[in-house]
Amino acid sequence: MVIPTKRDYYEILGVSRDADGDEIKRAYRHTALKYHPDRNPGDKGAEENFKEAAEAYEVLSDREKRKIYDLYGHEGLRGTGFTGFGGFEDIFSAFGDIFDGFFGFGGRGSRRTRAKRGNDLRYDLELTLEEAYTGKEEEIVFGKWESCDTCGGNGIAPGSEPATCPNCQGRGETVHSQAFFQIRTTCSSCNGTGEVIVDPCTRCNGQGRVKAEKRVLVKIPPGVDTGLQLRIEGEGENGENGGPAGDLFVVIYVKEHDFFVRDGDDLRCHIAVSFVDAALGTEISIPVIDDSEQRQVVIPEGAQPGEIIRLKGCGMPSLRRARRRGDLFVQVMVKTPTNLSQTQRELLMEFEELEKQTHRGKNRDIWEKIRGIKKST
Ligand SMILES: [Zn+2]
Ligand SMILES: [Zn+2]
Repeated sequence: MVIPTKRDYYEILGVSRDADGDEIKRAYRHTALKYHPDRNPGDKGAEENFKEAAEAYEVLSDREKRKIYDLYGHEGLRGTGFTGFGGFEDIFSAFGDIFDGFFGFGGRGSRRTRAKRGNDLRYDLELTLEEAYTGKEEEIVFGKWESCDTCGGNGIAPGSEPATCPNCQGRGETVHSQAFFQIRTTCSSCNGTGEVIVDPCTRCNGQGRVKAEKRVLVKIPPGVDTGLQLRIEGEGENGENGGPAGDLFVVIYVKEHDFFVRDGDDLRCHIAVSFVDAALGTEISIPVIDDSEQRQVVIPEGAQPGEIIRLKGCGMPSLRRARRRGDLFVQVMVKTPTNLSQTQRELLMEFEELEKQTHRGKNRDIWEKIRGIKKST
């Protein structure tokens, strides 16, 4: 195995072997500034030098590591598990505070290069109760910001270069002196990037992104209800600079139904029957949610207004428990006949007369009670 020869850490930073902490820090700032990736874009040699300097600083700024290095060299450090840095992110996260002072804006320089997660999107989807019952696949179409292909997302017209921001001279911030203080603020002309676009991309007007029509096939499970949010991972807006995309939230709204009222997994409905049917009992057919066929419902003899008949398993499918369904509660409404014919009237009076004879004793008690209440008030 060939181990590449490593340069001496003191030599990398250009300091003597007895340099103190401040001297080492100063030397490192100087070297890092020279080879900073933002100043040497695409330069592999500078990148190596930058990493090398970070490694040297990591060791020489640490009392313990420096002692081991002084005594045993690179070999000695290998025994401690020190392996240097994998990439820029490691370096910036280790020495971010040092860089703050250098460039006036965070370790990595331009803000534009910082990874950012995309925004979540919300889509309101309206369903009928029948669709909520069966579930469905729906292709939804919505506008979504996407990185502009023409400029590759940087907003600069192809072939042109960004210019150094004239307002902050590329520092990304402006300094105002006020009494004894210096106030640093992010440059408003370049938003802290230190660069301005002179020749914007015409397709996206320099925004770096364009609104594109996006289609997503959404699978809606049976039993969804109003307010439910289906999360579709990664279908939100794209992240920036390699950040992950946001999520798409499909918010369900189930429309009101003409016949059924939903109550969780159960359904409720009303059916009107004539007072004769209520008294004698009957069988009537009502619609059900699961198919176009009607279901026979037995109205028992002597059914009272408001009485509820339960049809087990004729409600909505349960979203939480597979193969379980809610019930259908049918409430009986009794219609009072109007516009009676003479014959109907006579028959009802006859019916009433019979009722009085049957319940004479009971009714008298009730009437006397009522009269008693009236007198006392
Ligand atoms: Zn563009
Ligand atoms: Zn600026």
